[in-house]
Amino acid sequence: MIIKQIYTFNNYRNFNYLIGCPITREAVAIDPLASDLCLAEAVKEGLNIVAVINTHEHMDHIGGNEAIINATNCKLYAHKNAKHKIPNMNYGLEAGQLLKFGKSIEIEILDTPGHTMSHVCLLLRDQQNSLFCGDTLFNAGVGNCHHGGDPISLYNTVYNQLIKLDKKTKIYPGHDYLITNLQFTLSLEPDNKSAYDLLQKCKMEDFSTSFVSCLETELKVNVFFRLKEKSILESLKNKNLLSASESPQEVFLALRELRNDW
Ligand SMILES: [Zn+2]
Repeated sequence: MIIKQIYTFNNYRNFNYLIGCPITREAVAIDPLASDLCLAEAVKEGLNIVAVINTHEHMDHIGGNEAIINATNCKLYAHKNAKHKIPNMNYGLEAGQLLKFGKSIEIEILDTPGHTMSHVCLLLRDQQNSLFCGDTLFNAGVGNCHHGGDPISLYNTVYNQLIKLDKKTKIYPGHDYLITNLQFTLSLEPDNKSAYDLLQKCKMEDFSTSFVSCLETELKVNVFFRLKEKSILESLKNKNLLSASESPQEVFLALRELRNDW
């Protein structure tokens, strides 16, 4: 399988993706905001873009659709409930659907509300699966719920779906927020050696924009997967963000609220 992670060099630090079939050279572009970079990468790799898939409706994910469609005549896919929010959608997606492109690309659709209520994550089936998770899950963090989202839905998505995926699943998020997210982890868990070591590596040039995490790593460095850690619970209590209840959902919501001020 050909997977290209394309960093967009914009203020939002977006990642765009191409998934290519090595046999037929057909390719899928995911949230191709930097349309010029995505088209150039496709030419360089000898790939023909036959589909754009949007993870959700925010402009920094759909803003490149038109240019890619005009250049390639490809089809546009997104969550079925996004059809009034994303112009020119051809196909609406729902949970459990399996999309096939070329001879080798198989993408399972996960319905993952939280960041917005019409958000899909794409699980690419391969020897090692890959999750293209838009703004639901980031490296060492999760998406915000400011623009049409809901924190309890995000909690349910993370705990009923994402955490159950194979631990070797590679994580391809919609943005690079690795450094600030690791700093957030260390502000709550100063002794988290995995987070500390990863943050040290971020001093290397281009590390965070080329890094590919996996679920196993996320379980060690992402506080939103670490809701029972004593140090996190203590930190939240000291900030008066957590009552006597330490239910995972309450801890998650407290973390989500704290990260909003950060
Ligand atoms: Zn978004």
